[in-house]
Amino acid sequence: MATLESLSFDNGFARLPETYYARVCPTPVPDPYLVCYSPEALALLDLDASELKRPETIETLAGNRLLPGMDAIAALYAGHQFGHYVPQLGDGRAILLGEVKNSAGEGWEVQIKGAGRTPYSRGGDGRAVLRSSIREFLCSEAMHALGIPTTRALAIVGSDHPVYREDEETAALVTRLAPSFVRFGSFEVFYYRNQVDPIRHLADYVIARYYPELKTLADPYPEFLRQVSLRTAELMAQWQAVGFSHGVMNTDNMSILGLTLDYGPFGFLDAFDPGYICNHSDTGGRYAFDQQPDVAAWNLTKLAQALVPLMSVETASQAISEYPQAFGRAYLERMAAKFGVTVGGDTVALVTAALRLLAQNRVDYTIFLRKLCAFDSQANASNTPLRDLFLDRAAFDAWAVRYGAALRQQGQPDAERAAAMRTRNPKYILRNYLAETAIRRAADDRDYSEVERLHRLLARPFDEQPAFEAYAAEPPDWAKRIEVSCSS
Ligand code: AMP
Ligand code: MG
Repeated sequence: MATLESLSFDNGFARLPETYYARVCPTPVPDPYLVCYSPEALALLDLDASELKRPETIETLAGNRLLPGMDAIAALYAGHQFGHYVPQLGDGRAILLGEVKNSAGEGWEVQIKGAGRTPYSRGGDGRAVLRSSIREFLCSEAMHALGIPTTRALAIVGSDHPVYREDEETAALVTRLAPSFVRFGSFEVFYYRNQVDPIRHLADYVIARYYPELKTLADPYPEFLRQVSLRTAELMAQWQAVGFSHGVMNTDNMSILGLTLDYGPFGFLDAFDPGYICNHSDTGGRYAFDQQPDVAAWNLTKLAQALVPLMSVETASQAISEYPQAFGRAYLERMAAKFGVTVGGDTVALVTAALRLLAQNRVDYTIFLRKLCAFDSQANASNTPLRDLFLDRAAFDAWAVRYGAALRQQGQPDAERAAAMRTRNPKYILRNYLAETAIRRAADDRDYSEVERLHRLLARPFDEQPAFEAYAAEPPDWAKRIEVSCSS
């Protein structure tokens, strides 16, 4: 196994001209300590847990000690926040330490979030609090385990350095990994400054590294834009199918690689509620759950606009025109698999009717789908565990008759269908109250065992884990009082 010192750094982004970033050193924090780590993410850098026993490693992840080969920078970007263009954002508290090439030949950019002020901090303190760092750590790794494209989280280090939000809290840094953190906003910033060359060079860089199959095209830019729109469609299908709400879908939080990026006030659906707003600060519901696919489409128009200097307006709008169908197809495929039915026939009507019933009866989305795996296609009446989730039993019965008929027509044995459905319908998701419980223990008692337990549980979300049955239950009443906002 490697040590941090033995890693080989490549730093492709830092070799770009300084137009795209500012060189900046992390601001040290006093007495950093390890809060939690992800063995799976460590493995991406050819590291194992023993590496985190060395104080030098903790100092590095806290930003107190740079290693030879690292080239620390904060990236510049802009973005549309809640519909309004903000000309300069950038990494205000995240610092890219460098890009590691692992033994499999993959490049992973290593970023520490909460590393202190940068030229892009505006009024902010450059810090992140333990609470939000735990949420980002747990959710990134849980999303990955669910098979959803995302940035990764390697570890959290904490410090007793005070950080002031609504109350006094303490500082923490999440080590994030991604092939690239380039965002839609990384292009927008130059479009609005009327700087064409930086747009072209950044597009060339992203294409060469992350869309290499397009390099040979005479004019790769329209196809690049199209590929981004298709990846975004796939990502939205995955979010909608699993019931994930991002909360702050500003264009600066939209990954050029179609990754889930920047975990803030996100939330998973408990009771199925299409209008669910996870972000307490989003009073207008701009980023409500059922708005996400359309918001992504709007965000893609902003990216397309930023790339117009590289192509005609018609070409740019053509390049993103497949998004609605691509999203619709991907979402339908995923929902069909979750319901254990083939695409076609009665599937759209069945799924739509089920979602309407779930919403009317405020049935827990995840629990319903997991119980649906065990649906007995031969005897509707024996499907009581499922039926008991509904207040309106008659409406459920009517749906179950249709569903049973569809399954019988399909003819797949129940056991086989159930096994397949259990690989598509997670038993365990990161419900807000589970994260909140882990955060309370960490923040109040310095007890990080619940963070670790949740991390391990959510690394296998599709497996039955009988010792953790309670973690699959409906949220308790107090969960309704949890308010998650942009404060982080
Ligand atoms: P976010 O809502 O976390 O995606 O952040 C939006 C912008 O605000 C980004 O440019 C962040 O880097 C910046 N930002 C958020 N929190 C802070 C902070 N505490 N200090 C400095 N910049 C911040
Ligand atoms: Mg952000």
